[in-house]
Amino acid sequence: MALSRSARLGTLATAAASFLVIAAAPAPTAGAPGIGDPYFPQLGNGGFDARHYALDIAYDPDSGRLDGRTTLTARATQNLSSFDLDLQQLEITRVEVDGRRAQFTRDGDEVTVTPRRALAKGRDFTVTVTYGGIPEPLGGPIVFGSKYGWMKTADGVFVACEPNAASTWFPSSDHPADKATYDIRIKAPKGLTGVSNGRLVSTYDRGDATYTHWRENRPMATYLATATIGKFDVRTGRTPGGTPIYVAIDPVLKNSNNVDVYAVTAAATDYWSQVFGPYPFEETGAIVDDMPEAGFSLEVQSKPAYSAVRNETTIVHELAHQWFGDSVSVAQWKDIWLNEGFATYAQWLWAEHQGTRSAHDSFLAAYNARPADAAFWQIKVADPQRDTMFASAVYQRGAMTLQALRERIGDQAFFKLLPTWTRLHRYGNADTADFVRLAERISGQQLDDLFDTWLFTTGKPSL
Ligand SMILES: [Zn+2]
Repeated sequence: MALSRSARLGTLATAAASFLVIAAAPAPTAGAPGIGDPYFPQLGNGGFDARHYALDIAYDPDSGRLDGRTTLTARATQNLSSFDLDLQQLEITRVEVDGRRAQFTRDGDEVTVTPRRALAKGRDFTVTVTYGGIPEPLGGPIVFGSKYGWMKTADGVFVACEPNAASTWFPSSDHPADKATYDIRIKAPKGLTGVSNGRLVSTYDRGDATYTHWRENRPMATYLATATIGKFDVRTGRTPGGTPIYVAIDPVLKNSNNVDVYAVTAAATDYWSQVFGPYPFEETGAIVDDMPEAGFSLEVQSKPAYSAVRNETTIVHELAHQWFGDSVSVAQWKDIWLNEGFATYAQWLWAEHQGTRSAHDSFLAAYNARPADAAFWQIKVADPQRDTMFASAVYQRGAMTLQALRERIGDQAFFKLLPTWTRLHRYGNADTADFVRLAERISGQQLDDLFDTWLFTTGKPSL
């Protein structure tokens, strides 16, 4: 994101007879209401692993009403008597598990589903939720004070949900630790374009509506899903390096973008593929919408979403996130510097690549711009706290950490570390300790002091 501007299977019970052993499965219990993230204790859910979402969305821009049906395919990770989903605001009319109607209750943003029969550990099941209502964006301090999530525009909706707004438009296990693949089907009034993640499977008109089907075949965190709808000029093709590209620009912005979004997206996708390792997704691109109230851009998987685009550096930032954040995702939100510090550092690398400023000079500029008594230095980057998880220190001090690391271990080790990191954790989750360990392994150096100083300590480090 950028500011614009075990249960172990079965306890074996021995039976009386010496030659007879009876396996007693643990009694089914309720899945936990959260996945265990201290910043968002209720987000995500315990007891199952989300594997695939089939989202059906019908949106009426005039009334603002969304009617949806989500089928989630999941695997039970314990014997489950019931399990939770996350859904904010919207009304549920029906829930089925494996095609049979299931009981559900709601408590705040938690939906508790009780299937007719318990679900055995290791078994795949489907849960289908029919729901609807008028989604509202979230607000508060987290995203630079901006609203975020499902944001109504003049001609449709702009959907950008980091960190916790995906569950305002579809029932889910709404945490990046529970990634899944997606089919996303959008029904919108004829003449509008529905833009989503991955590749376009089909689009056609029937009656007064346009139906669009997108498929994301690579694991994706919920907050990176979109179903942005509006009038768009679409340009498709391939980058010079061969990656398919899809760029959708709101025609009202045709003359107000001072940057060639298509060309910069293609160039940055290809350049980052050399520096960070192979591009992780099937398509690159951009969604450029007219949403002045969104004070941010977001690294939506395969197609970053911009509320207008003001500069090239924003594009290179959001595309770097395709590796750092989208493919390699945080295990807990406190690790957010692994996204933002890296994407900010990528902006410094881009300037170095363009020959305008070395990363060393970018480091010094950021370092010298803030006096030692500035509040900036009081954020602990490796645990910035929920309401300040997008504080500028997470971006800038995070990037400074990487330049300090580069100067300590040298370019050869540093530029081996980045693609090794994206390869080892491709499509998965990782945390700060994983990164420190890998940096030490590749450099052959003990680096505790460097990371302690830059990530785990407040105050302005001395150089
Ligand atoms: Zn970012």
